[in-house]
Amino acid sequence: MGLLDGKVAFITGAGHGQGRAHAVTMAREGADVIAIDIDQPIANVLYQHASADDLAETARQVSETGRRVLSRIADVRSSEALDAVVAEGIETFGKIDVVVANAGIFTQAPFWEMDEKTWDDVQDVNLKGVWRTMKAVTPHLIERRAGSMILTSSVNSVEGNPAAAHYTAAKHGVVGLMRSAAQTLGAYGIRVNSVAPGLIDTPMTNYQAMYDQMAGRENADRADYDRAALNFGAIAGQGALPPESIANAAAWLASDGAFAMTGQNIVVDAGHTILAGFNPNPVLPG
Ligand code: NAD
Repeated sequence: MGLLDGKVAFITGAGHGQGRAHAVTMAREGADVIAIDIDQPIANVLYQHASADDLAETARQVSETGRRVLSRIADVRSSEALDAVVAEGIETFGKIDVVVANAGIFTQAPFWEMDEKTWDDVQDVNLKGVWRTMKAVTPHLIERRAGSMILTSSVNSVEGNPAAAHYTAAKHGVVGLMRSAAQTLGAYGIRVNSVAPGLIDTPMTNYQAMYDQMAGRENADRADYDRAALNFGAIAGQGALPPESIANAAAWLASDGAFAMTGQNIVVDAGHTILAGFNPNPVLPG
């Protein structure tokens, strides 16, 4: 008996990272999976992008669990692409029960130096892409009077990030979208929640600039990053968290056991957001 026996889950950004963990975890819990990702570098991100091969590997890992999978290259910046894959998914599996709007990108720059494209790209994927994903599936869920949507926000949905105001604004926006949709769709028996990941060990956080940033010095390496990440949360020994930490929370939110959960932004961060914190840019008196 799995948490999601007989359900069908539609997951965006499933080529690697958290999206792959969502796909494999939900399949292990009994769900068939519709998995999408892009196959191209996106915007000015500094880290490794997902490829068609990565998405194929996700599909292979889902198949290995014994569940069925439909994987397609599709961009959350295109409603046309999302509508097509949702239609194909419903035709293949007969329905969609669960939506994980996970696709996202991360870039950094001081907001007053940022060009409009950097701002717009992050909104287009991280906020508008979530809206497009929900828009593509909602008529089907309303028709069925059932469903659970899980949107990926971030700890940056409940705190500021001085290096990424555009990302932080988008992730706060995801929570507003989630709360509004939860109110509207409750009448149809559809639940909408978000998960707010802390520091998660995926390609998004695994590259030189991130090592330097976490360690607080140039030319840091992965070991320095791992040591610095131990200061990010409150639980001893937990640094950059495995993507399964988020996938486990999402699988439960998707399950019937979470029947009373809607409109909530569930923070999974090893306690990062309860730490006292400090001011990284203090202005000295005088
Ligand atoms: P990741 O970069 O490994 O995965 C993101 C996935 O989204 C990639 O496979 C990428 O190809 C895909 N994607 C990007 N743009 C897309 C588009 N236009 N259409 C379809 N797919 C697209 O990073 P991750 O950590 O797995 O990120 C998953 C989510 O978690 C993102 O929304 C991210 O903002 C959020 N998040 C990550 C962290 C972290 O520390 N890694 C923390 C908080 C929130």
